[in-house]
Amino acid sequence: MSLVVMKFGGTSVEDPAAINRTAAIVAGRVALGKTPIVVVSAMAKVTDQLLRAAACSAQGDKCGALAISSRLRARHRDTACLLLKNQEDTVELQKLIDEKFDSLDEILRGLAAILELTPRISDLIVSYGERLSSRIVAAAFRERGIDAAHVDARDIIVTDSQYQKAVPIDAAIEKRAHEKLLPLTAAGKVPVMGGFIASNEAGITTTLGRGGSDFTGALIGGAMNAEAIEIWTDVDGIMTTDPRVCPDALRVKVISFEEAAELAYFGAKVLHPATILPAVKKNIPVLVLNSRNPTCEGTRITSLAPHCKSPFKCIAVKKKLSIIDVVASRMLMSHGYLKEIFTIFDKHQCPVDMVSTSEVSVSLTVDSNDKLPLIAADLSKLADVKYEGRKALVCMVGEDIRGQHGIAAQVFNAVRHVNVRMISQGASEINMSFMIEEDDAEEAVRSLHAAFFQDPDPLVFDVEARKTGNREQGSGVSEAAAAATR
Ligand code: ADP
Ligand code: ASP
Ligand code: MG
Repeated sequence: MSLVVMKFGGTSVEDPAAINRTAAIVAGRVALGKTPIVVVSAMAKVTDQLLRAAACSAQGDKCGALAISSRLRARHRDTACLLLKNQEDTVELQKLIDEKFDSLDEILRGLAAILELTPRISDLIVSYGERLSSRIVAAAFRERGIDAAHVDARDIIVTDSQYQKAVPIDAAIEKRAHEKLLPLTAAGKVPVMGGFIASNEAGITTTLGRGGSDFTGALIGGAMNAEAIEIWTDVDGIMTTDPRVCPDALRVKVISFEEAAELAYFGAKVLHPATILPAVKKNIPVLVLNSRNPTCEGTRITSLAPHCKSPFKCIAVKKKLSIIDVVASRMLMSHGYLKEIFTIFDKHQCPVDMVSTSEVSVSLTVDSNDKLPLIAADLSKLADVKYEGRKALVCMVGEDIRGQHGIAAQVFNAVRHVNVRMISQGASEINMSFMIEEDDAEEAVRSLHAAFFQDPDPLVFDVEARKTGNREQGSGVSEAAAAATR
């Protein structure tokens, strides 16, 4: 059985037209003799709106929360209605949608009474996005001749109980995936499930963190030993940088697991950072593809990427970071000092992105978050502490950067007009990163892109699109370019 996991992001299921395109893509795979397992995100922007509804309720704004829910109900009902022609199917799906929104409204009302939004309740509320979209997509597939079977992802993806960022339990997922999915695929059915949502061993709903549907796709691919994991999105693949920032970005045809993981971790939103892990474990290729331009070959992420003449493959940017300076002359040279600092970050469960040390000071970068004042208060027991937000980390990814002379000079020459706060190279051979002000990030990326992607290696980058100016209609790149100039 040539099993392929196909994950469709929010824009690929955002409205009836998108769901129709998605159905055609899946039908195409079935026609090729493949056995797809489909993972879908919530319809575009639904997760954000559910989180807003939750926040309104928790602040006592019950009417505001219910108004958001009512707009979402109408959007889902309308989508279902436009997609389904069969009267019985439509009635059944509308009933299901109404039941789900009735129970969501009940939770929102309860929340407005208790005025406390816990991470657990937040996960329950956002889970409605994927629970609804997967039902609608499965019904639409069935009407279009795909023998789809809806599966509740929470029955398969088992995690720990770290709500909002739960960690999957591989062995349990593998067991459940085999139990629930194999009988369906063996019967020629196409399982359709929501991404992002999961449950802990007690059956309580958890989520894998924002953008986590990619991760679900990869977890299912790993558990089922799929021959490929396809991530269908709204751009032609992994691009040399975010095409919304740099309309000139080129498609990367092939990239290694390590490079893709680095890119995803350092902010390239196209892929959730954990997506690569299950694929690497089982050496399953990951393909990033465009559901608006399905004939484009996309990006292939694999263990064996060809050697590239260009020093870098991509530029990623991670925003909303803070820099923390810890200055302590009396600690000079004392051992155990760094350990004490990291123990504090550990206590607050705050991951550190970049570290730089001198004789008297340590600078660290972290995601800006509400724990920062508490972390700073703890650190100030050790030393003088300053922290500043609104920073961005620019990360240049490419294999074998270390081996190339003069690369750092070229990078910093390209951003000579920008104030660089911290630099890191060497932690991995494939990444050179530096920290700048958030407001400078987009200009820095465009300058770096102009400097390093003038003469791209055709083996690795899609240079044809640039030569012919052929940005196909709906390829995402042209739309992103338009968005960038709006
Ligand atoms: P989905 O909803 O399909 O998961 P996302 O919005 O999460 O899609 O990710 C796709 C978006 O990622 C693109 O629209 C693009 O703006 C952004 N992006 C950021 N960096 C890159 C990159 N290097 N290559 C491609 N897209 C990128
Ligand atoms: N719907 C979730 C989010 O918006 C997960 C995903 O789309 O990957 O974060
Ligand atoms: Mg995504």
